[in-house]
Amino acid sequence: MKKYAVITMDVEDWYHTYFPEADVDRSISLLDGLDVALEIMRKENIKGSFFVVAEIAEMLAKKIRAMDEAGHDIGCHNYQHLRPVTMSVEDYRKQLIEAKENIEEILGHEVIGYRAPSFGIDDDRLNVVRECGFKYDSSKLKPQKSAKYGVLNLEGFQEIFPCIHNDGCFTEFEVSTQKIGDMNMLLGGGYIRMLPWFFMKYMTQKYLDTGKPYVMYIHPIDLSPKAMPKVKGITLDRYLRTHIGRENMVWRFKQVIEMLKKNGYEFVTFAELLKLYPAEA
Ligand SMILES: [Zn+2]
Repeated sequence: MKKYAVITMDVEDWYHTYFPEADVDRSISLLDGLDVALEIMRKENIKGSFFVVAEIAEMLAKKIRAMDEAGHDIGCHNYQHLRPVTMSVEDYRKQLIEAKENIEEILGHEVIGYRAPSFGIDDDRLNVVRECGFKYDSSKLKPQKSAKYGVLNLEGFQEIFPCIHNDGCFTEFEVSTQKIGDMNMLLGGGYIRMLPWFFMKYMTQKYLDTGKPYVMYIHPIDLSPKAMPKVKGITLDRYLRTHIGRENMVWRFKQVIEMLKKNGYEFVTFAELLKLYPAEA
């Protein structure tokens, strides 16, 4: 079995993930973490899949276009960063159409990939994603204990390759998790940043030993060299989530890339994987 790795980034700012509803000062941006990722990937000759919040795509239009031209796969991550399950199906559809059209206008071509903010999607809303013309989604996780994540049952889909589910015209790429006890722990994002490295290295290696496609996700906040903006009245939980491990994440990101190379993984984008495992298969 060929081993594939997809490096993915959800292109959103610090407030999208951690302070969506709070009245925070949005004048400070940590989106420079995107440049850090792009530079590391350029040196390693890795192309990735980037799911961009449409209001950010408007701000970074030139850069998003350049990434597309360089061979990265540009997908959609909603218009703002609202979790689909918090919206009615019809409201969700409206903002998704707007988000898709905005990014397509910037790129000058169709956008085929999608990821739901905070993986907060269910099967009804996944149908909307499909009806809006996307060819793939990457919001599926193995069952989670936290209620903030949505649940995708994917009825009617077949697992055509480990972690790649297909229903004939639409493909779902699972994001990597590793079992620990009765938990399916995410191997990306804040987990790599916040948990002790020896533990994350062990969990990641355990997953790579299976040879299944490895899908990692990160955010600009994880890699930005800037200090986290101060937020008044921040809870301890949010403080920890936004501060822990930011100084080491660039090193850890590079370490994961090294592990993938050592384990014989080939770096691809989801758009490339779709061609390798076409929807008609
Ligand atoms: Zn997100």
